[in-house]
Amino acid sequence: MLLPYHSVVCVKQVPDTSNITGEAMKADGTVNRAALPAVFNPDDLHALEAALRIRDRHGGTVTAITMGPLGASEVLRQCLYRGADRAIIVNDRRAAASDTLATSYILSRAIKTVGEFDFVFCGRQAIDGDTAQVGPQLAEKLGVSQITYLDDIVEITDKSMRVRRNVGAGWEIVEARMPLLLTVMDSANEPRPAAARRMMRYQRARCDGEVEREVSAAMKDANDEQRETEQGRRAEQLRMKGLFIEQWNLDDIDADLQWCGLSGSPTKVHRVQSIVLTKEGFKEVEATEEGVRSLIHELIVDHTLG
Ligand SMILES: Cc1cc2nc3c(=O)[nH]c(=O)nc-3n(C[C@H](O)[C@H](O)[C@H](O)COP(=O)(O)OP(=O)(O)OC[C@H]3O[C@@H](n4cnc5c(N)ncnc54)[C@H](O)[C@@H]3O)c2cc1C
Repeated sequence: MLLPYHSVVCVKQVPDTSNITGEAMKADGTVNRAALPAVFNPDDLHALEAALRIRDRHGGTVTAITMGPLGASEVLRQCLYRGADRAIIVNDRRAAASDTLATSYILSRAIKTVGEFDFVFCGRQAIDGDTAQVGPQLAEKLGVSQITYLDDIVEITDKSMRVRRNVGAGWEIVEARMPLLLTVMDSANEPRPAAARRMMRYQRARCDGEVEREVSAAMKDANDEQRETEQGRRAEQLRMKGLFIEQWNLDDIDADLQWCGLSGSPTKVHRVQSIVLTKEGFKEVEATEEGVRSLIHELIVDHTLG
C-alpha cells in the first residue's frame, strides 16, 4: 500500500569552495565569504531529491528548512523550483556563530515546530564547515533513529525504511523504523534541474525580511509608517498567491537561548592554518597571493606540478 510521507529537508547555503581565488582567505586565515559566490550545498541537492522522489511516488509533503542570513532564502527558492511544498528560513542574529551543536539544536526546534514527520533528510556534509556532524546531532535531539551515508533507498514499508549505505570500501543494507533521519551521499541520485514553470512562479517568492529590504530600497523618502503599510500589503499579496517563504526567529520556535549562537557553541575556531604535508613534517603557507604564488613556484620547480 502506498502511504503519504512527510519529509523535512535541511538545506544550507555555503560559499562556493570549488573556485578558490587569492581573495578566498582573509589575512587572519578565516574564510572571506564576501569573495566567494553563495551556492546550494551540493549534498543537500541530493537530500532534496531523495525527499522529492518519495513524495512523487507515495504522496505527502516536502518541507525545506534553512538556518542562515536572509540571503539564504535563495536556496529555499531553489527548493521550490524543484518541487518543495513549503519553505522556512530560521533567521535570527542571536543564532550567529552557532557551531554544529547549536545549529542542530536550532534545527531540531524548527522541525518540532513544523510538527509530525516521517523523514528528515540532510546532506552528508556541508562544504564550508565540513564536519558532517549536524545530521547525527539533529537525530539525537529529535530522538529518532538515524542512517548516515545513504546511497540508495531499497524499500519503504508503512513503518520502516530499508536502505543501502555507503561504508567506504563497500556498502551495507540496514533498516530502521520511522520517524527517521538520513544523511545523503552525492552518489544517491541525480538531482532534478529547476522546473521552468515553477521557476517563473517562485522566483517572486520572498520572506518577510526580504520584503522589508525591498520596500526600504524602493521607498527611501517614505516615513516608517508608510513603509510598514507597504510591507504589510506586499507580504499579504505574497501570502495569498502562495509565494510567501515563512521566516521564523528563535522565539517562534521556542528555542532556549542558552543553547543557541555563541553561548550554545562550545567549539571555538581559534586559528585556521594552511598546511602542506612534506616527508619531514609540514610547511606553513602564508594565506596571501604571494604565499600561494611561491608555493606554486616551488611545486613546479620540484616537478610536482606541470
Ligand atoms: C573553518 C571553519 C571550521 C569550523 N569547524 C567547526 C568545528 O570543528 N566544529 C563545529 O562544531 N563547528 C565548526 N565550524 C562551524 C560550522 O560551520 C557550523 O557549525 C555550521 O553551522 C554547521 O556545521 P557544518 O557546516 O560542518 O555542517 P555539516 O555537519 O557538515 O552539515 C551536514 C548537513 O546538515 C545540514 N545543515 C548544516 N547546517 C545547516 C544550516 N545552517 N541550515 C540547514 N541545514 C544545515 C545540511 O543538510 C548539511 O548538508 C567551523 C566553521 C568554519 C568556517
